[in-house]
Amino acid sequence: MFAHTVQDDDPAVLKSEWRKLQRAHTHVGEEDSDYEQDIYDGFSSLGGYSIINKKLKSEEEAEDYIEKNTKKWEGAIAVKFANGKKLTAEEKKKAKELTAAYKKAIKKRERVHSKLTRGIAKKRAAAEKTEERYRNSIYAFGAPSMYKVRAPAEKKQFHKCAQCNSTLNLYFFTIGEMCPVCKSNVFPKEKTQELEKAKEEESAAFKEYCNRPKDTYIMVGGIAAC
Ligand SMILES: [Zn+2]
Repeated sequence: MFAHTVQDDDPAVLKSEWRKLQRAHTHVGEEDSDYEQDIYDGFSSLGGYSIINKKLKSEEEAEDYIEKNTKKWEGAIAVKFANGKKLTAEEKKKAKELTAAYKKAIKKRERVHSKLTRGIAKKRAAAEKTEERYRNSIYAFGAPSMYKVRAPAEKKQFHKCAQCNSTLNLYFFTIGEMCPVCKSNVFPKEKTQELEKAKEEESAAFKEYCNRPKDTYIMVGGIAAC
């Protein structure tokens, strides 16, 4: 059986550790530790996991639970357990504060991001309409009519990358802020500074949040099919 303890009870932290384990599995053999061996023994056959809505009393109970409730060829399960700590009122308060600060930082980053991309999102919606009409006009009247439809709309439908000056057709540009030509941000630097700052603040808040006082951990595991 494979079992791994995540020192947090946040599903997002579990998700990121699971990804790390998957990455470690692909590099197995580079280090000859027991841990690596555990991962190697059929770890990939587990695929994903499902979270069980239950909190067990100890790490041992969590391990027993996983052993009894997973089968070969089925995915892993994740279950919460009491880690033996009893939080004081002050620690509970601290945990609450750090959680609130992290959530606030996420909201701020989202707000700054949507402010930055509002203009391009509007243009993109218009681009979809123009492109639709352009495509229909080819079927109806043949290629020459494209000038009638696309050319007047061009200014609205295209965005110039602030870094390399390439013109991007917004109809096809749906991946985000990264320019597919020069791989930098399509917005001018002075406009992205606020977003970069918000992202930094968010990851700092996340680090603090991960170190909050906790009385619950998660164990994830399953039976590897080797
Ligand atoms: Zn560019």
